Amino acid sequence: MNRRLKSAEGGKPAILGGTPIRKMGFAPHPVMGAEETSRVMKVLSSGQLSGFIANASAAFAGGGEVRELERLFCRYLDVPHAVAMNSATSALHAALLAAGVGPGDEVIVPPYTMSASASAIIMCGAVPVFCDVEADYYCLDPAQIEKCITRRTRAILVVHLFGHAADMTRILRIARRHRLRVVEDCAQAPGALWRKRYVGTLGDIGVFSLNQHKTITTGEGGVAVTRHPKLALKMQLVRNHGEVVADHLPQAAGMDVLGWNYRMTELHAAVAIGQFKRLDRLNGHRIRLAEYLNRRLNGLPGLRLPRTAAGAKHVYFVYPIRYDERAFGLPRPLLIRALSAEGIPFGAGYVRPIYLEPMYRRGRVFERSRFPFDFGRKTPARYPKGLCPRTEALHAKGLILTALCRYPLTTRDMQDVVDAFHKIHAWAPEILRAQSPK
Ligand SMILES: *Cc1c(COP(=O)(O)O)cnc(C)c1O
Repeated sequence: MNRRLKSAEGGKPAILGGTPIRKMGFAPHPVMGAEETSRVMKVLSSGQLSGFIANASAAFAGGGEVRELERLFCRYLDVPHAVAMNSATSALHAALLAAGVGPGDEVIVPPYTMSASASAIIMCGAVPVFCDVEADYYCLDPAQIEKCITRRTRAILVVHLFGHAADMTRILRIARRHRLRVVEDCAQAPGALWRKRYVGTLGDIGVFSLNQHKTITTGEGGVAVTRHPKLALKMQLVRNHGEVVADHLPQAAGMDVLGWNYRMTELHAAVAIGQFKRLDRLNGHRIRLAEYLNRRLNGLPGLRLPRTAAGAKHVYFVYPIRYDERAFGLPRPLLIRALSAEGIPFGAGYVRPIYLEPMYRRGRVFERSRFPFDFGRKTPARYPKGLCPRTEALHAKGLILTALCRYPLTTRDMQDVVDAFHKIHAWAPEILRAQSPK
């Protein structure tokens, strides 16, 4: 069986000196379309590169392209309010401030996410409380949320990781029971569904990213959406120097707010509009490629391919595989090196659990203070190793992932990924032997 497979996969693995499966790299992400170009050119020749002014005029809400982008998000998600900003990090900060998060509060967040999900909490002067993820979709584990709740808990920051929704049904039930706000970080999951509803529309506020690496991009940008007019207004005030505006807007009079400059330029909005119109097609493309991998990698030992919950739509921002090195026959670092030698880029373990970053280990953000970790507490919040064991295990051993399921790649490209896995698996004993000391 092994011998036959070996000839079928075209000879020796590249890590053992054979010919790599890929001689060329993969076509880059992102791809810009005609509408992005024509809209940008129009903004450029108008000379009005930003439409924002921090006063109580119409310009408080930004220029025409920004407002058009917000309209598109509202229509697509069927929500009344969208607030475009210069990044999802800014939007998360504004969302948490709008949700009333401040010094003395705790916010529950998974540690398996981009660092900004947690740093946005610290930017509010609040303390992140890390809750472990579940084993199927790598999102907040609803079974572990309640033991993280204290009298200080103000909100849950849910992350829809890798393009699959967290279990919003159970999370919202817990949030209602404890009167917590829910902010959804949808940076990796625009267009994903949970029980047939778009992520970002289930909690109080949903936040999307338009950074260079995301499904749709304008280089740097973010959008927050909400059903609540008060939360939308507060986010607009945070976006645009709200402290000098609030008193002049009837609905905002008396609101406590410090504004940043989180405004989006007309140029960025122009690109984002063109990109946004292709979101469904880009997601459809991701899903087709991921389903191809699901079919062709199925049955290889040691690989547990991504699952999709009933009523959910996975949009495969990345394609994650649970890896069992004993069953597959190679330690994870060796598999990653063997894939890389074949020209197939795979990552090992996504990010380090956020709380293991030095800032959390030291418990210091500011040089001469322990704020916010000690604010209003007898003992400062601590983040020991072992806090979220499942996340640590995924990071250390259990997960491999690739961002190759994306436009403009094709099923032929995916077949190279499949061939590489089969070839490496068939040769695993030889690869292992070549690595071990004689
Ligand atoms: C990319 C990302 C962010 C931050 O987005 P920016 O627009 O770069 O600020 C936040 N959360 C998650 C999960 C992300 O993937």
